[in-house]
Amino acid sequence: MNLPGTSPEQPSIPQCSAKGCRADAVWVLAWNNPKLHTPERRKTWLACEEHREHLSKFLGVRGFLKDVVGLEEWESAPDR
Ligand SMILES: [Zn+2]
Repeated sequence: MNLPGTSPEQPSIPQCSAKGCRADAVWVLAWNNPKLHTPERRKTWLACEEHREHLSKFLGVRGFLKDVVGLEEWESAPDR
């Protein structure tokens, strides 16, 4: 885990959460597992353009997926 500013070669751009993928994240997938989390709780996965659909489906078939938001929009949103 790199803290921002500690590693000049690796800019602190969030990376895709898909296994083995090092692509820059473009999307934020907000999800909630009702068996583990209170309803208002949001877990997040990050996804690149390529894995957005794959990860969304993974969460979607389990009924966990709540929201898919562009990373910039997510980060600029208040109260998070
Ligand atoms: Zn990816």
